[in-house]
Amino acid sequence: MQNDKLFKEVENLKPQMIEKLIEINRVPAVAPENGGEGEMEKAAKLTQFLETVGFDKIERHDADDGRVPSGKRPNVIAILLGETKQRLWIVTHLDVVPPGEPSLWKVTRPFEPVVVGEKVIGRGCEDNGQSLVASLFSVIALKHMGVKPKRTVVLAFVADEEQGSIFGIQHLIAKGLFRKDDRIVVPDGGNSDGSFIEIIEKSLLWLRIRTIGKQTHGSLPNKGLNAHRIGMQVATALDERLHKKFSARDEFFDVPESTFEPTKKEQNVEAINIVPGEDVIYFDCRILPRYNVDDVLKEIERTLMEFEKKTGAKITLEIVQKQPAPNLLSADADIVRLLKSALKSARGFDATVGGFGGGSCAAFFRKQGIPAALWSTVDEVAHQPDEYCKVENMVADAKIFALLATM
Ligand SMILES: [Zn+2]
Repeated sequence: MQNDKLFKEVENLKPQMIEKLIEINRVPAVAPENGGEGEMEKAAKLTQFLETVGFDKIERHDADDGRVPSGKRPNVIAILLGETKQRLWIVTHLDVVPPGEPSLWKVTRPFEPVVVGEKVIGRGCEDNGQSLVASLFSVIALKHMGVKPKRTVVLAFVADEEQGSIFGIQHLIAKGLFRKDDRIVVPDGGNSDGSFIEIIEKSLLWLRIRTIGKQTHGSLPNKGLNAHRIGMQVATALDERLHKKFSARDEFFDVPESTFEPTKKEQNVEAINIVPGEDVIYFDCRILPRYNVDDVLKEIERTLMEFEKKTGAKITLEIVQKQPAPNLLSADADIVRLLKSALKSARGFDATVGGFGGGSCAAFFRKQGIPAALWSTVDEVAHQPDEYCKVENMVADAKIFALLATM
């Protein structure tokens, strides 16, 4: 079949793609960890639409989670049978991160997506709405053309990506849904022209550090122990030491060094005139695979012990998430070669392979020895205020997905 015709069909679907992106991102799908109700409503809306597309099969593989009202975290799978047994999976996630500081949203409210010029702005529009819609409409284009794809296309819409994927892709992997000879694309990150395919990632480490001092009156700090001051000192000490000790650079990665970021801070006292007796901070660390995550943890523990001794505070460390970098996906794995040749034929360039920050669904496949390539065309505005999807990218990526199914 001629690619031009297929591409034209995808382009014709552009208005519907924009409409679907807006509709889907109107439904907040925030994890319970972040005060949300999960993805059930969004999944219901999506499933309703999937049933009109003409897939050969639609499956649900929900995971039990008592923390959300529905008691379930939804995972939806839609299958379009191909001429061969070979399967192409396109895995996107339903959940989104919370809006963050509301006043930073200048164009629209987070869950009221709007079209401004060539962009759709709203929480989840890039991460992962753009790719979700692109994958869906690549199949719709094939259906409209009456094309049976060469390989079976399986679209997976999963829960819980932003908080560690236990109720999402990990649940599906544990159920044995995937085979080693599957071609898997995770379009959940990339660069602005789609010339970068991620095949390796950094180790991920999320930490919660709690400092216990003694609460007292603001005018009598000598009667207490200011946990906030010690917490800040610990944070800056860790920031400095970790960057210094694990300072190697590797140009194979998009951010070429390990990152150690103090991020979340739990609220302490309500009043200005109370010396806080407790302080809780968080770190998001993305570590180059050459380092052992346990060595990083040892350095952190050493620092905490030192501050305990020095200040008399009690400082505890909780590991919120720890994902050591999985095996390197070979640069000539089938899915990488397939993607490269689709990009060459649709966009005319040779894509490069390399590493990113880590923590995506692709990591869990790689851990199982199942090749998965992380790729999409995005401006990398995920998790930011006024997050957007560039419509042109959504349409262009839908063409690549359609091509991957047929070539
Ligand atoms: Zn994402």
